[in-house]
Formats: sequence, structure tokens, C-alpha cells
Amino acid sequence: MGYIDFERTVTAQNYEPLPIVLREAKGVWVTDTEGRRYLDMMSAYSAVSMGHGHPRILNAMMEQASTLAVTSRAYHTELLGPFLDKLVRLAGLDTALPMNTGAEAVETAIKAARRWGYRVKGIARDRAEIIVAENNFHGRTTAIVGFSSDESYRDGFGPFTGGFRQVPFGDAAAVAAAITPNTCAVLIEPIQGEAGIVVPPEGYLRELRAICDERRVLLIFDEVQSGLGRTGRWFAHQHEGIRPDGLVLGKALGGGVYPVSAFVGTREVMQMFNPGSHGSTFGGNALAARIGLEALDVIEEEDLVGRSAELGAYMLDRLRSMRSNIVREVRGRGLWAGVEIDPEGVSARSVCDALAAEGVLSKDTHGTVLRFAPPLTITREELDWGMERIERVFARAL
Ligand SMILES: *Cc1c(COP(=O)(O)O)cnc(C)c1O
Repeated sequence: MGYIDFERTVTAQNYEPLPIVLREAKGVWVTDTEGRRYLDMMSAYSAVSMGHGHPRILNAMMEQASTLAVTSRAYHTELLGPFLDKLVRLAGLDTALPMNTGAEAVETAIKAARRWGYRVKGIARDRAEIIVAENNFHGRTTAIVGFSSDESYRDGFGPFTGGFRQVPFGDAAAVAAAITPNTCAVLIEPIQGEAGIVVPPEGYLRELRAICDERRVLLIFDEVQSGLGRTGRWFAHQHEGIRPDGLVLGKALGGGVYPVSAFVGTREVMQMFNPGSHGSTFGGNALAARIGLEALDVIEEEDLVGRSAELGAYMLDRLRSMRSNIVREVRGRGLWAGVEIDPEGVSARSVCDALAAEGVLSKDTHGTVLRFAPPLTITREELDWGMERIERVFARAL
């Protein structure tokens, strides 16, 4: 029995991986068990923005793992303060609550928003509402999939938690119209990732900020995927020069080696938590804090944000200029592109297979969109190598 069939016999079938078995990775390159090398233009959904096995992150991880790793938050360590201090300063916010995965940090934001709604805004008990966008992706817990508009995420998992209202993404007037006296927060991705790298109209985030200020509602951005340099700014909302009340981060925060997430917010919002109200056995452990701090230092010192802006503009230009009869639209910002494939002709999944055969790893989302999100450490030459192969696949009659 081959490895893939073996894995299938013991693994829940909640994913449909490409038929590639990876063995090693370094920087932007990954190698499979047959010795074939691929350019990673997927970066584990942006978790590997610093590239695979970044030497500084690996060193910090090894050193910390053998010194002090997991102790729980029952005690202090010397690492959590410096990590979160750096994080809140970069985000322009005041305090942070460390968790592990993105979904947990989203859950943390929901709890903070609801308590703020009751204790500060004065909403009646259990009536708080949070406005979310259609086609959102915020993770996979039962509360979160309950406010998803994707039936495959929800089917068979109810009953769901109430208190969420969906509005179309990119339409600020729809948010304004959905606000009631019970609304405590608007929770939105500044660019929708899993929906297919959907960029809202210019001014949308600024309008949301103005509406939330006027109606006394918290504005919370989920930047688990769009944050930490992916779009050519530290955070995607900074393209519109505004500051949210809460910010959800994860994925790249773990340096590509460990799950690290956080809910970052203003002091007013974070004050909603007191001992006993929230927690996580692993959240903010010494190893996580050390890796998170090193990941932030690497992004800053290697100017990965600037690289993402510059090489991202170049990548989007090249993708847009490719001649192909299967491409409908190219969207994106920074080193983050979504290519909408004409479903009449071919499935995005089959284009992914063709790209893999040429040595480029990507992953479709929703069957019609290809994503290209290489590590932000990619060089111009490596990017050109990938673009040539993508061009070849797009030009071919598929
Ligand atoms: C991936 C993602 C999440 C969930 O993160 P997990 O670590 O998989 O729980 C939440 N929000 C957004 C925008 C994401 O892209």
C-alpha cells in the first residue's frame, strides 16, 4: 500500500490534499518523497511567511525548547511581556491576550466584544449582536461556523450560537443598516482570504470606522491571514490609515513552526477579561512567546513588509498580463493573489494539479480561485521561476 492510501485508512477525510507527499522544506522550496522540488506558493495559508526553517526562528525555538517551554499561565515567564509589548506597539494598540490557533483568538474577540457590549454599552443580558460579512472565514469552532455562509462548513453541526448577523462584504451602508442598539461589534476580514482573496472597495474600512464610532460599536479585524506583512503593510487595515478596537492575529505569528495567535486590543476592550474569564493551557507559553517575538523581529529586520509590497505589485502585474482563456480576474494585494478561473472551461483544482506537475504548489479555494501566497522571503529570481511556470500552464489549453 502506498503512503497516501495508508494515510487514508487512519485519517478523517476532512481535507482533500494534492497527491504529493512532502518530506523536506527550506526557504521557499519543498521536496517530496520522490525527490521532486516545488516552489511553495501556498505557505501553509500564510503560516510560513518567513519561509520554511528560517535559521533565526529555528535557533530561537531550539534554544528556548531546551531552556523553558510550557509552564502554563499559572506562572510568569520573562518572555511573554517582551513578545506582547512588541506586538501591541506594531499594531498601535494597548494589550494582547495570547492563544494558539486563529479560531481561538477569534473566539477571544467574540467574548471581549460581548462583555464590552453588556458592561460598557449597556446591552441587555444575552442580547448582544455581532455583525459579520457574507463569505467570511474565521475558523472552524461550532460558534464560528454558525455564522459562516458556507453550507459545507455548517451542514450537520447545529444547533448554532445566536447573536450574529450577516451583511454583504464591501458594502458599508449594509453594515450601517444592520446596526441595532444591541450591536456590540463588527467583525470582518479587511481582505477576505478563504473567500478567494476578495479586496473590498477603496474606502470601505474607513467608512466602517466612521460608522462604528458614530454608533458606538467595536470594529474588530480578523487579520489571521492578511496580517503581518502579507498585503505589503504590517496589517491590511493600515492601507486605509485607520485603527481598529480589536485585532485578531495568528498563522505567521508562529514563524512557520508553532501555533501562536493573539487577540490584540485597546485597554478598554481588554479590561473585559479578569482572572477566570478566559484562558488556554498552552496560550502564551515561553516557547510560543519566544517564537512569536523572533517571528516579529524577522519580519521587521528583513523588511518583509517592504518586500511584500514591492514583489507583490510585480507579481500581480505579471499575473494580470498573462495571456490565458481560463483566467477571469486577478485580485490581491502584496504577495497575496487570487486568480479567478472560468469554471466553464476547467476547475481550479485541475489547474493546481497542472501547476504541481510544473513544480509550483498552490491550492484552490472554493473550486474556482487559485491562490498565490509565497513566503515573503522569496527573491525576485525565485518569483520569476514560479511566474514562468504559471504562465506556461495558463497559456496551455487545459
Ligand atoms: C485561517 C484563518 C482563521 C483560523 O485559523 P486557525 O489557526 O486555522 O484556527 C481565522 N481567520 C482567518 C481570516 C483565517 O484565514
